[in-house]
Amino acid sequence: MIAENIAAIRARMDAAARKAGRDPKDVVLCAATKMNGADRVREAIAAGITCCGENRVQELTAKRAEHAYDGASVHFIGHLQTNKVNKVVGKVDLIQSVDRPELLAAIEKEAAKQAIVQDILLEINIGAEESKSGYAPEAVDAVAAAMEQYPHCRLRGLMAIPPVSEKSGSNCRFFTEIKRIAVDITAKNYHNISMEILSMGMTDDFEDAIACGSTMIRVGTAIFGARDYSKK
Ligand SMILES: *Cc1c(COP(=O)(O)O)cnc(C)c1O
Repeated sequence: MIAENIAAIRARMDAAARKAGRDPKDVVLCAATKMNGADRVREAIAAGITCCGENRVQELTAKRAEHAYDGASVHFIGHLQTNKVNKVVGKVDLIQSVDRPELLAAIEKEAAKQAIVQDILLEINIGAEESKSGYAPEAVDAVAAAMEQYPHCRLRGLMAIPPVSEKSGSNCRFFTEIKRIAVDITAKNYHNISMEILSMGMTDDFEDAIACGSTMIRVGTAIFGARDYSKK
């Protein structure tokens, strides 16, 4: 099941990339593994998944202990409390969900303590939704310009979760806006940052995201099936 799902997603990713005149190799499929146990994560990696995105610190810690992610890179994609950064910094390849100044400062402090450089993305609240965290689009440039103050963090791009949409295609303007922000920042040649990763697109909208410049999609449901939130 998981292998077939992944093959089907890859076919759709490739078609979306070609249609947009892009190289399919330029888009990474990150499996959003929340609420899926180590066995299912391993099954996905055996079927070719090279990147796993985890939402909760507790799940990340438990599955790492079970060697669930062996053979793939691991990203943190959920809301991260500052008092838990020591459980994530240095343990994941990329923290995609840096959504506020206090978290950036806490990651810097922990990475300095560990004497490592942690790769990060800034999460943008692209729909200006009150229910979501993330930097406002107009705040991103100043953060990118100030990254020299965070020598143990390396900014590699942006992540966004647009508002839930009913209509297909309706998130395109948000994806396009993220791409535009990235292009603007790239043009400024700030020291030691890049905008190579644009993490946008999920099960319901990844083809639109690819059409608009996404380089990484985070897909859960289409790989693993619907999550059962009733059992804990
Ligand atoms: C769960 C999750 C996803 C994947 O969502 P699906 O709709 O199941 O593909 C992507 N990004 C984040 C941050 C998530 O929490």
